[in-house]
Amino acid sequence: MLPLPALEQAQRDLLALPGVGISILEISHRSKDFAAILEQAEANLRNLLRVPEGYHVVFFQGGALLQFGMVAMNFLRGTGRPADYVVSGSWGKKAMDEASTQGQVRAAWDGKAENFTRMPEEDELQLDPNAAYLHMTSNETIQGIQVRLTPNVGEVPLACDASSDFLSRPLPVEKYAVLYACAQKNAGPAGVTIVILRDDMLQKCPKDLPSLVNYRVMAEGKSLFNTPPVFAVYMVKLVTDWLLSTVGGLEKMNEINRRKAQMLYEVIDQSKGFYRGHAEPWSRSLMNVTFRLPDAPLEEQFLKEAKDRGLAELKGHRSVGGCRASIYNAMPEEGVRTLRDFMLEFCEQRGGK
Ligand code: PMP
Repeated sequence: MLPLPALEQAQRDLLALPGVGISILEISHRSKDFAAILEQAEANLRNLLRVPEGYHVVFFQGGALLQFGMVAMNFLRGTGRPADYVVSGSWGKKAMDEASTQGQVRAAWDGKAENFTRMPEEDELQLDPNAAYLHMTSNETIQGIQVRLTPNVGEVPLACDASSDFLSRPLPVEKYAVLYACAQKNAGPAGVTIVILRDDMLQKCPKDLPSLVNYRVMAEGKSLFNTPPVFAVYMVKLVTDWLLSTVGGLEKMNEINRRKAQMLYEVIDQSKGFYRGHAEPWSRSLMNVTFRLPDAPLEEQFLKEAKDRGLAELKGHRSVGGCRASIYNAMPEEGVRTLRDFMLEFCEQRGGK
């Protein structure tokens, strides 16, 4: 979901941006009007996340998946060192697989044997002090598990795929060398990916990379090396305006997200095993609540009845099955309450408690 006020403003101003007279879909990416939008989107992100001095904020295309490759192209390839990966779920694994095209990768921790039901404790990470970087995933969207605290990894640069909990809570940006997120969960529509890069990392980018996959070129080009995804950046500006002015910042957003997730986890915990949460309680995601019902036919029935009530997109990812409630920032508390009430009712009717 996207915040309604952001969608309404985009709708109101679609034919002509106020004071500009041209649509955001038509405007030149070199115009001063778009420069102001881009600048404001970046300023909003810096403000919300309290990005310290010494970091670039850059807008890319190509989704989070391109970043899986780019991190390795820029910081692994040709270093002669391995890169460490936290394989915490489907996306962590995919990130490592993509990086393996560029150099040697190793799992600093792998949750596969436990069916990706939890994040690792900090002392479980088998870190190589010589690693080019350690890559982690802050929220595994498919399994519904989330990192609570950023791990301390010493001198090794920390890279993070924060795609599915970006802007959902405050983040210690200063602990990361590279932090990236595709926009289409909490920050805007599909089509733009936000990358926050510590300046010293830019010196490491190989000179022989094509420009569009070279962090240094793209950072120095201030997101305008070539045509950026203009409309998606504009939407990021509107969504971050909403986070700042209506929600009141990421601490507030986090409080709301906690309340929303709590509503659903409470139903799961109090259902005496009718609903079974996928995640270990201390690794539960506040963004993606994953759970199962006693058997597959009941899950089918649950999804069907939910859909009839307008509760959409509750089917778990095809790779794991079950159910998944994605309750990103823009999902109102009211929406989660409706789902909670439906879950309670369904459980009661089918003999659960
Ligand atoms: N990482 C995570 C954590 C994701 O949730 C997703 C998308 N669901 C991706 C990576 C892939 O993003 P994209 O499709 O933008 O490449």
